[in-house]
Amino acid sequence: MQTIFEKIINREIPSEIVYEDDKIITIKDINPKAKTHLLIIPKKPIPTINDVTLEDKDLIWEMFIVAKKIAKDLWISEWYKLQFNVWEKWGQEVFHIHLHLLSDI
Ligand code: AMP
Repeated sequence: MQTIFEKIINREIPSEIVYEDDKIITIKDINPKAKTHLLIIPKKPIPTINDVTLEDKDLIWEMFIVAKKIAKDLWISEWYKLQFNVWEKWGQEVFHIHLHLLSDI
């Protein structure tokens, strides 16, 4: 079954896209927990960080490069945090890995 992020990637449901390339999409979180709350999502559907393999090393690296670029573009390079939630007990709701980028400016 598709996750909500796959539906967003496939344009089956709308979202506010702030960045996209062939491997990664970045959207605004629909329920922001900070003034800036973005989700950096690989197009490859990997359920949790526990499912990442060495094969994904470039993809994971690219997620951080995208995060760094967006932070720079938004002028928040010195004021943001990045977060992966892993499984429900620590808040993972969507089982398609995504990196939260949060800032209160
Ligand atoms: P997590 O709890 O780490 O799995 O994060 C999932 C995030 O996805 C939450 O912060 C939700 O607010 C967000 N979210 C869920 N549905 C959508 C959507 N349709 N568009 C944008 N963000 C969403």
